[in-house]
Amino acid sequence: MNKAKRKAVIAGNWKMNKTPAEAKELLSAVAPLVKDADCEVIACVPFVDLQTALETTEGTNVKIGAENCHWAESGAFTGEISAPMLASMGVEYVVLGHSERRQYFGETDETVNKRTKAALASGLKPIVCVGELLWERECNITEEVIARQIKLDLWDVTEDELKNVIIAYEPVWAIGTGKTATAEQAEEVCAFIRATVAKLYNQAAADALTIQYGGSMNDGNAEELLSKENVDGGLIGGASLVAEKFAAIVAAASK
Ligand code: PEP
Repeated sequence: MNKAKRKAVIAGNWKMNKTPAEAKELLSAVAPLVKDADCEVIACVPFVDLQTALETTEGTNVKIGAENCHWAESGAFTGEISAPMLASMGVEYVVLGHSERRQYFGETDETVNKRTKAALASGLKPIVCVGELLWERECNITEEVIARQIKLDLWDVTEDELKNVIIAYEPVWAIGTGKTATAEQAEEVCAFIRATVAKLYNQAAADALTIQYGGSMNDGNAEELLSKENVDGGLIGGASLVAEKFAAIVAAASK
């Protein structure tokens, strides 16, 4: 399956930004701008914004995701939110293993894997983030790092479940830094991810997998990044907070 047969997916990751009132305002501005998109459009928003986001986007083509979920269904995990809780609200997607969670909140490949399996079991579609640190790239071990993350994060995920998984390649050095990977660097690693998935599953499963690039993607660089064969979409941080910029990226993915 070639790129043309995979649906492009543009997802905003709002991080810890926007109150419910601000979420309503932003999504009310985004929805009409992306209504004719020829790609999947998702806004992954803070937990407290989910209900407002779902209500504001009802009847539009904008899907809503969360930014994390716990692996247990329920229990003594103060402050956590479970996958069934999200699914029961009508949330469709969930970002897992974001580098900020790995860096600041002790997320490991083991917990990313547990969260991924829990999300899938609840019918959520996980956006699983992988990516190397700058130091790892400089030491020339990007492929080892990515292969290890893919193997561990997808451990015990069946081929059938994989159909609901999106992988986001997010080089840590490019997130929130304004430093974008070149289109060639993004393509090289996204192609490597696809080849790794082909080895773990099979070529058809790998060909069908949506692989996003994330890391300072914006309205100026999106078209070139998204033109690459193995870059099927984007996970967008900063630029997803500005309706016109996010819509311009969606438009680039719709070409
Ligand atoms: C992200 O948070 O996933 C991200 C890619 O952020 P930014 O676009 O701001 O680099």
